[in-house]
Amino acid sequence: MNVQVSTAHRFVFDPAPQPTLPVRGTDLLFPIHRIYCVGRNYAEHAIEMGHDPNREPPFFFQKNPDTIVPDGGTFPYPSATKDVHHEMEMVVAIGKDGIDIPLDKALDHVFGYAVGLDMTRRDLQGEAKKLGRPWEVGKAFEASAPCGEIVRASEIGHPAKGAVWLDVNGVRKQTGDLDQLIWKVPEMISYLSGLFELKAGDLIYSGTPAGVNAVKSGDTMVGGVDGVGTITIKVG
Ligand code: MN
Repeated sequence: MNVQVSTAHRFVFDPAPQPTLPVRGTDLLFPIHRIYCVGRNYAEHAIEMGHDPNREPPFFFQKNPDTIVPDGGTFPYPSATKDVHHEMEMVVAIGKDGIDIPLDKALDHVFGYAVGLDMTRRDLQGEAKKLGRPWEVGKAFEASAPCGEIVRASEIGHPAKGAVWLDVNGVRKQTGDLDQLIWKVPEMISYLSGLFELKAGDLIYSGTPAGVNAVKSGDTMVGGVDGVGTITIKVG
């Protein structure tokens, strides 16, 4: 007699693995849902990119969750560019779903924080800007989102001040402070949750301070956010 096996839960090929990040002080993994990034969130970086540093509504773009590279990993020099830049950022890790989250409840949705790099093919991003095209080719490419381990907010609280810095081959390239963020963490969560359904597992790259610059194969990037952690990534 033929045994009929239900096909309802079978895949035509193995699904891609769930992207994750380790959670400091635990043996648990944080499963990544989406990656949002805030643009131009430090005045001096807005100025270095040729924009008005005044407070305009925040804007966001996304990266793909499978572009994460863990601390200690290698960022392979990407294809189709001659100008790939580092952008050192604090990353907010969302732990609770929400839509239209009010400002005074926003921090309840934070699981923790991390330090990350919003790697950018600046030449392709520049072309896209000029032509009014989307930014994906400049921003959402393979390995473009290195991120360190997640530190629980229950351990460190909600940092609103602290140096944001990046060294390349031991030379300081980027410096800023979380207190210079144009849009603060509760504001970015509240605003973003009016545009998208925020989900546990979402990461928000909060924007980069001034000093973005090109890297080349063989470089070592070491960056950090004081009070959160550090990340070391080699350029392949
Ligand atoms: Mn960025």
